[in-house]
Amino acid sequence: MKVLKFGGTSVGSAQRIKNVAELITKRGRNIIVLSAMSGTTNSLVQISERLHNEDIDGAYGIIEGLKQKYARTLEEMFDDQVYLNLAKNKIQEIFDFIRLHTMSNFSERYEKEILAQGELMSTNIMHYYLLSQGVKSVLLPALDYMRIDENGEPEYNYIKANLSALLKASSDAEIYITQGFICRNPEGHIDNLQRGGSDYSASIIGAMIGAKEVQIWTDIDGMHNNDPRFVENTEPVHELAFEEAAELAYFGAKILHPTCVRPAQEHNIPVRLLNTLCPEAFGTLIHNSTETGKIKAVAAKDNIVSLKIKSSRMLLAHGFLKRVFEIFEDNKTAIDMITTSEVGVSVTIDNTKNLEQIKTELSALGDVSIDEDMVIICVVGDLKWQNCGFEADVLNAIRTIPVRMISYGGSNHNISVLVHKDDKINTLRLLSQHLFNS
Ligand code: ADP
Ligand code: ASP
Ligand code: MG
Repeated sequence: MKVLKFGGTSVGSAQRIKNVAELITKRGRNIIVLSAMSGTTNSLVQISERLHNEDIDGAYGIIEGLKQKYARTLEEMFDDQVYLNLAKNKIQEIFDFIRLHTMSNFSERYEKEILAQGELMSTNIMHYYLLSQGVKSVLLPALDYMRIDENGEPEYNYIKANLSALLKASSDAEIYITQGFICRNPEGHIDNLQRGGSDYSASIIGAMIGAKEVQIWTDIDGMHNNDPRFVENTEPVHELAFEEAAELAYFGAKILHPTCVRPAQEHNIPVRLLNTLCPEAFGTLIHNSTETGKIKAVAAKDNIVSLKIKSSRMLLAHGFLKRVFEIFEDNKTAIDMITTSEVGVSVTIDNTKNLEQIKTELSALGDVSIDEDMVIICVVGDLKWQNCGFEADVLNAIRTIPVRMISYGGSNHNISVLVHKDDKINTLRLLSQHLFNS
């Protein structure tokens, strides 16, 4: 069995849902993980924002707009009245549930309940559509098996036991449909795996059932060698090692959620990135072995802040770095990049919630300077230190760009530079020109 995940664009309209239905019925008995229709989760976030601000009319306006969109989608989807009515009733139930939240004191718990409705709608629509086409579809309710612990980590034993039981109970299914993104927390309340987390759901499910493959179907033919939103003439990378894919996802390649690689990697399950709009394209295969000796791709991570701590006391002082790191740890802030010299250390963070407090505490160790609006540009490939020349290639390509930090050696797969956000696009383009188009 395989796990096939379809993102928001892939199920973004009645026609797209029908296309996916055709695509999945041709591929046999697999588990299909669906995102919400594109735009829906954003609308649900907006509804929640209005409710947090007690703007009930504003929330109603967005709910009404969304409701009409779903009504139109259903009319377009179904020829069969029986299944049209079944789908309509389900969607009505979901909108009634959303409306119920406009009447009570809004809380974070209710917000998570609202955010979960997008995936519940898309999966129900797909399920009834498949039934209307004579396909024996079975819905696997993610809220009955997907659970995270108090650190937000998947509870693998619980997920495996509950998912297996659900699969066993419906072993005559021709196709299984389930929700990405949504789960329960240790209190049993509805929660989620963070925005874009349906990829993670698919990988967790794949790992738990020992799937033959996890397929992430989206609107592009695989992981490109640079961000197609900013660089022209990017090309799909046919093969990536798990580590390379994880670095690219973490450093901004939006096609893959950063957490998605780990469960599949730990269970050695290949992940394939495929294009719903062009199903025959090869896409990208992420697995254990890959072409060596090559730079594969470039990605960028925005909204980075760098902090430099300069201290004459650092000279030969052991324990200095420990004290720096403790400050970040106490403030629950992860460090991305780090470079050190005899007199100072520079680090980058993307979570600036506790920046002021961190700055105050670091000031006790030395002079602190901060650069905001920075971007990490990450070059990924087989970059073992024994492979000569790739550092020169990267730095040569961007010799006209002011570079704030350079980091290499943390892994065999990544060399990163920190630049100002105004130089991001130029840096990405120069890297593509010099690394891939020559
Ligand atoms: P989905 O809704 O299917 O989860 P996403 O929008 O999350 O899809 O991811 C697909 C998008 O990722 C593409 O449309 C593309 O614009 C963007 N993207 C960013 N970097 C890359 C890259 N290196 N390769 C491919 N796509 C990328
Ligand atoms: N629907 C969720 C989001 O928009 C999850 C996902 O699409 O992966 O973030
Ligand atoms: Mg996505």
